[in-house]
Amino acid sequence: MNGPVRTTCPYCGVGCGVLATPDGAGGAAIAGDPQHPANLGRLCSKGAALGETLDLDGRLLEPLLHGQPVSWDRALDAVAGGFASVIAEHGPQAVAFYVSGQLLNEDYYVANKLMKGFIGSNNIDTNSRLCMASSVAGHVRAFGADTVPGCYEDLEQCELLLLVGSNAAWCHPVLYQRIRAARAARPGLRVVVIDPRRTPTCDIADLHLPLAPGSDVALFNGLLVALAEAGAVDRDYLAAHVDGFDAALAAARADAPDVAAVAAACGLDPADVQTLFDWFTATDKTVTVYSQGVNQSTAGTDKVNAIINCHLATGRIGRPGMGPLSFTGQPNAMGGREVGGLANALACHLDLANPEHRAQVAQFWGSGPVAHAPGHKAVDLFRAIKAGQVRAVWIMGTNPLVSLPEADRFRAALAGCELVVVSDCVRHTDTTALAHVLLPALAWGEKSGTVTNSERRLSRQRAFLPPPGLARADWWALCEVGRRLGHAGFGFADEAEVFDEYARLSAVAGQAGRDFDISALAGLGRAGFDALEPVQWPVNATSRAGTPRLLGDGRFFTPDRRGRMVAVTQRAAVDQPDADYPLLLNTGRVRDHWHTLTRTGKSARLSAHSPEPRLDLHPEDAARLGLETGGFARVTSRHGQCVVRVAIDPGQRQGSVFLPMHWSHAFASTGPADALVGAHLDPISGQPEFKHTPVRVQGV
Ligand code: SF4
Repeated sequence: MNGPVRTTCPYCGVGCGVLATPDGAGGAAIAGDPQHPANLGRLCSKGAALGETLDLDGRLLEPLLHGQPVSWDRALDAVAGGFASVIAEHGPQAVAFYVSGQLLNEDYYVANKLMKGFIGSNNIDTNSRLCMASSVAGHVRAFGADTVPGCYEDLEQCELLLLVGSNAAWCHPVLYQRIRAARAARPGLRVVVIDPRRTPTCDIADLHLPLAPGSDVALFNGLLVALAEAGAVDRDYLAAHVDGFDAALAAARADAPDVAAVAAACGLDPADVQTLFDWFTATDKTVTVYSQGVNQSTAGTDKVNAIINCHLATGRIGRPGMGPLSFTGQPNAMGGREVGGLANALACHLDLANPEHRAQVAQFWGSGPVAHAPGHKAVDLFRAIKAGQVRAVWIMGTNPLVSLPEADRFRAALAGCELVVVSDCVRHTDTTALAHVLLPALAWGEKSGTVTNSERRLSRQRAFLPPPGLARADWWALCEVGRRLGHAGFGFADEAEVFDEYARLSAVAGQAGRDFDISALAGLGRAGFDALEPVQWPVNATSRAGTPRLLGDGRFFTPDRRGRMVAVTQRAAVDQPDADYPLLLNTGRVRDHWHTLTRTGKSARLSAHSPEPRLDLHPEDAARLGLETGGFARVTSRHGQCVVRVAIDPGQRQGSVFLPMHWSHAFASTGPADALVGAHLDPISGQPEFKHTPVRVQGV
């Protein structure tokens, strides 16, 4: 192979372009792709170290049945036979797929088609439920579809940027680099960070609001009231395009009538609240970014709508330098949403609740009817396994026994499941340990397909290494099982054919007035697919070069094409601190690691920055508890406990502690941090509350 291969980073939702130059010995030199619009040649520490993570140590390279190597035929027969037998005895609702934002669109598409079209259940959900489901639900309520209105250039074109619940410096580093560069070039660009912690992102902040955990709705309701009081609401825009203003404002007034009330509810200095309100009121070109600090909450959907309300009320949406913008966690969290890989979604942003849409998809697939009832969302899926309602599960590209809340409790549930199939590229994880059938998947650098980043940009992941051992693509394994189950429609020759069918299905969505439409990418053929340049959907007959922004014309994707402001009020988190559990635990990422360390854990350079999990806590909390940096503490919640090293961090809000989510039993004696988190869910999105767990901390 000559010259670099243009591909896309497998880590976060920024979706940076990568140039990979194979060395002929299984490795590759890595550089940023200067032609990729997401990163323009930049990479963060994780992306730059990708070349250090390509070895085959620890890889799963052959199918295993009850721990014994078998042929692919035997393993696939066991999967198909096991699923068929459970379906015959207990019906299609007794089987499920649990998939991942690490999958490519083509894997996701085939999984969704098999489960929803041919098995006849909507029991397919994804680990993306844990990171961005509240944004999806908020978008659907406000816009009528899971539409991301803006693009990354808005971060550079705005005059005021709010980062809410986002430590972009560590979690979306290349976007942070772009913001920092824009701010250096244009000092008039103001940055406000709204986060209980003072994180490295605050290094570029003109204002940091360390609000009380979970009080975001009160803050943005107060902002809506302030906009109304200042006459900054765009009444003409509302009359022409948006419903719900009066009800939303009434709810906001009851909740957060003035700056003093907002400051009290959020634990903030009233002067800082006033500054935020004044800046937002005076600045048309405002972008509000939100991420996991907003989404991972029992009020996550309401928080998203409280933010969007302020943009709708001012008409600041879908135009250059204006709008709400969700930063997604995983490399293909967006693609999974588009493909329909959520238990309450249909492919191509068609509406699962709409009988016409279900019939259109079934007709396109030539399948049986698509079930109308939503399937089990991630945490509920594992609850259904525990209850014996789901008896066979196929887990792909994810390690839920580390990432789920109450992870240790769900370990026992999975251990009792009749059939557990796991597709992974890693041999030993907390989840593969419980698999009856293990299927070796291709990893980054070996697999080929497409992903979608946080600005709706489809990019190619291209293979630059040969498949190792017997590893195969996930879409291929799914097709083989589909064929063994007797279903037509799974004869794809390669991933380009899968993508082509996906693009043709999106034409149905486009004709139904939905936002997701990539019909202009149908018929590319293998050569066209291989040459596909990064492009933002919709890509159709009227926008062949892609679409940087949506909703700027005031036409939304609701049945009457009007946007919706949603009346929301501040709600307390379900689980509150008390005398036994007086501190609040926040779990999240560190700068140089990704998910459960299976890739970044291979790089000594990356591990040097955070060699082990550590508990960050405020100096006054540490002094009261008699803890010092470098010592050890036991962290106990109502759901579990762990022992970790202590780090005193003045950036912590007093009363709050932070623990990273990456380490599992496989990498540290502590066990997963998320085992401490209670499985409390947003009632609309089903997203768990990872940022608000009452804990007790004691020295050991
Ligand atoms: Fe990869 Fe995200 Fe870093 Fe870009 S910012 S190089 S996508 S981890």
